[in-house]
Amino acid sequence: MPIMAESEALQALKDKGSLYAPEDGYHFKGTSGKHTSGYCNIDPVLPFSSLLSRMTEAIVDNFKELGAQTVIVPATGGIPLSQWGSHHLEKLNGGEVLGVWADKAKPGGFAVERDGFAEALKDRKVLVLEDIINTMFSIKQVIELTRHRGGEVVGVGSVVANTGVSAEALGVDKFFNLATFAYDAWEEDECELCAKKVPMVIDIGHGNKFAEQHPDYPTVQVIKA
Ligand SMILES: [Zn+2]
Repeated sequence: MPIMAESEALQALKDKGSLYAPEDGYHFKGTSGKHTSGYCNIDPVLPFSSLLSRMTEAIVDNFKELGAQTVIVPATGGIPLSQWGSHHLEKLNGGEVLGVWADKAKPGGFAVERDGFAEALKDRKVLVLEDIINTMFSIKQVIELTRHRGGEVVGVGSVVANTGVSAEALGVDKFFNLATFAYDAWEEDECELCAKKVPMVIDIGHGNKFAEQHPDYPTVQVIKA
C-alpha cells in the first residue's frame, strides 16, 4: 500500500484549490516564459502541514534505498518539502539527512547562498524535490546547481508533474511524482490561447509580466481574497 495514492493526492489538491485545469478556461505564463492551459499552485496546500507531510513522505518513500544525505528544493513554494523530506528520509533510513533550498537569484535562475547550504551539498548524495514540475525549467537549473556544488543527484521527486516529465527528460536516474496533471504549453509567439484571447491569469505565475507588455490583452485574477 502506498502512503498516499495518486487519486487521493489529486483530490486533496483539487479540494484545496491548487489545480487549474484546461477546462477552467484560464491561461498562464510559467517561470520558463511558456504559456500554459493549466497550472498547479501549491500555496493553498502549504498551510496544511499534516497533509504536506504525508505527501512528502509518500514521495521520499520511493527514494529510501538510494541513501540521500541531503534534500534540496527550489524556493519558495518547495521550501517546506525540504524540511518534511529530510525529516521523513531520516525516519526511513536512520541516518542524518539535511534539508536546504536554492533561492531565486536575480535576474533569473537559482543560487545556493545561505550560510551552510553549499556544505550540505558538497560530496553528498542529494535528492531534489519540487512541488510542481511544469516545463522542467526550474528543476533542471537546481539539478545543475547541485552538481556544480559537488553534489551527486540520486533522483528527483515532485508532488505534481505535467505529462512528459521523466527521469530521461530530467537527465537523472530516477523520477517519481505523486500525481500527474495534464495540460498544454506553448512558446509565447505560438500560443493557441493567445490566438483565442483566453484571459491571462495575472496573480499566479508570471502573467503579470505578460500583462505589462500587452496592456490591451484581457486578464483575470483567481486568488481568493
Ligand atoms: Zn498565450
